[in-house]
Amino acid sequence: MSEFSFVEIAAALPLPRFPAPCDRRGFPPLRVTTRKTASGVLPRPQVWNDPGHGLVLHCPCDPAQGGGTSTRFCPDAQRRFMAKRLCPMCGARLADEEVAVYLGVTAMPVHTMPPLHWDCACALIRRFPGLFEVPNAVLTLAPAQAVRLYRRRIYAVDGRMPKAVFPPTDRDSPAYGIWDLTVAVPRDHRTVPLRAWRGGPAPVPATAPAAL
Ligand SMILES: [Zn+2]
Ligand SMILES: [Zn+2]
Repeated sequence: MSEFSFVEIAAALPLPRFPAPCDRRGFPPLRVTTRKTASGVLPRPQVWNDPGHGLVLHCPCDPAQGGGTSTRFCPDAQRRFMAKRLCPMCGARLADEEVAVYLGVTAMPVHTMPPLHWDCACALIRRFPGLFEVPNAVLTLAPAQAVRLYRRRIYAVDGRMPKAVFPPTDRDSPAYGIWDLTVAVPRDHRTVPLRAWRGGPAPVPATAPAAL
């Protein structure tokens, strides 16, 4: 099925990066960010063959050491946070009836940043007002239980751009390519331009999914 060497792909794979607008200088580190080692060096990701999951990108960072970086996800943390629906700001789980908030850009209906609580999204925006400088930044609001998860499996690198397939996480699928991140696709969502928040949070309901 494959004419490429996974070893070659693994060597070419960059550590997963945030999508815009989070990939901005000064964006605060979250609980899903890769941790630098005590010496300040970013860990190099490794590909292992995991039984039942095929080739999986792992990060050897130690959360107890060093500081976080704002521009790179730890693939292990990211997959765990997505699967358990944990908020990257506070680390707590989003309940079924809560509204999941995704920070992204208009052109990207899929998300690699795990869902934020409403209050945590507000806190993140207050902490990093540089988000207002991103013209197409949006918040996507969705019932937490109406979000579908997919694996992003990289099967080739074309220049610096990875090529990927996206099998659902809840279905058996041939292990094809390297699973680096889990992707969330909210259904029944609504999108709010971030610029509407300038001067304070816009009056968007953070209540029951029915209010969406
Ligand atoms: Zn890591
Ligand atoms: Zn939170």
